[in-house]
Amino acid sequence: MKVLKFGGTSVGSIENIKRVKEIIVDGGEKIVVLSAMSGTTNALVEISELIKRSAIIEALGKVEVLQHKYVEVSNDLFETNSLKQDVENYCSQIFNFLKECTSENHTELLYNKIVSRGELLSTFIFTKYLNQEGINARLLPALEFMRIDKTNEPDDFYIKQNLQRLIENTPPADIYITQGFICLNAFGQIANLERGGSDYTATIIGAITKAEEVQIWTDIDGMHNNDPRFVENTHAISNLSFDEAAELAYFGAKILHPQTVMPAREANISVRLKNTLDPESYGTLISKGFKGEGIKAIAAKDSITAIKIKSARMLQAHGFLKKVFEIFEKYETSIDMITTSEIAVSLTIDDDKNLVSIVEELEKFSTVEVDNQQSIICLVGHLVVRHHETHRLFKVLQDIPVRMISYGGSNNNISLLVNTKDKITALQRLNSYIFDFEIV
Ligand code: ADP
Ligand code: ASP
Ligand code: MG
Repeated sequence: MKVLKFGGTSVGSIENIKRVKEIIVDGGEKIVVLSAMSGTTNALVEISELIKRSAIIEALGKVEVLQHKYVEVSNDLFETNSLKQDVENYCSQIFNFLKECTSENHTELLYNKIVSRGELLSTFIFTKYLNQEGINARLLPALEFMRIDKTNEPDDFYIKQNLQRLIENTPPADIYITQGFICLNAFGQIANLERGGSDYTATIIGAITKAEEVQIWTDIDGMHNNDPRFVENTHAISNLSFDEAAELAYFGAKILHPQTVMPAREANISVRLKNTLDPESYGTLISKGFKGEGIKAIAAKDSITAIKIKSARMLQAHGFLKKVFEIFEKYETSIDMITTSEIAVSLTIDDDKNLVSIVEELEKFSTVEVDNQQSIICLVGHLVVRHHETHRLFKVLQDIPVRMISYGGSNNNISLLVNTKDKITALQRLNSYIFDFEIV
């Protein structure tokens, strides 16, 4: 059995929905995980924001615009009036629900309910479309098996039991379709795996069902060696180890949700990244073995806060770092990068929810400086630290102020912290210093 996930663009137009059908009808047993059609989750987030600001007329207007789009999809995709009617009835229920939401108080739960509708729509429409095409496909509602626990980790035991039961109680099918991204929380309320979370749904299901392989189908031919949104002439990397892919996803390569690799690594299930628009291209295979040495790819993660904590005697005052770390632990804030000197420690966090309290506590025994709008640039590969070409990255220091460097923490990763305004230039320069030897 394989698990195939198709992202927003892959199900974002009639043409692409038809491509997805061609890709999945190869006779093999599979679970297909779908995202919302592209643009839908963003529109739902905006609707939720408008409700939060009590801009009800605007929110209703946005719901109407979105509904209109789905009426068009239904008209273009379905051939019989009865199928069109089925789909329109389902869509009407969803859009009436969204209209009712505009008169409710805004809460996190309301947001979660609103953003969950995108995947409910795409999976219903796609399953009906497959049925129209004579394919025995059935929907497995994610809200009947996908759950996270109190620490927001997948509740594997619950997921396994409920998914198994659901499959047993569903008439046999060649293809099972389910929603990515959405789930229940530990209290049984609607929640989600955060933006881009359908990738994570796919590897969670893959690990639990011991799938032969997980495939993530998107709009690009695999993991590129740099961010193609900011750097020209990037190229797909054929093979990555789980560790390399995990670092790239965690440090900002948008093609994968940050947690995607973890379940696959634990269960040793390969993940293949493929392009829906060019299914013949090889893509990227993420698997256990290491292949190649040196820096393979660069990614960047924004919205980082750097905190410098100074004390008159830091290193000799043993227990200082322990005191610092205990504060971050107390506020459940994880640290990404860290560098130290005799009198100061600098570290970075990406979640500044508790920053004010953290700083207040640190200031009881040190001087604290905070810099927002920083970006971590992460260089990933195998044996990157001792590879003979690695020194090239230090050339970037002559062009860009680098705030921190983390070197030697692992064999897979070297990280630099720069001001976000310098990020694109840093990515471009690093690209030419490291991958494009002609220009150096
Ligand atoms: P989907 O909707 O299929 O989940 P995403 O938009 O989440 O697709 O991810 C694919 C996009 O990720 C690509 O179109 C590309 O712009 C962006 N991206 C950022 N960094 C990388 C990278 N290193 N390799 C490939 N794509 C990347
Ligand atoms: N639809 C969700 C989002 O846009 C989840 C996903 O696409 O993976 O974030
Ligand atoms: Mg995505």
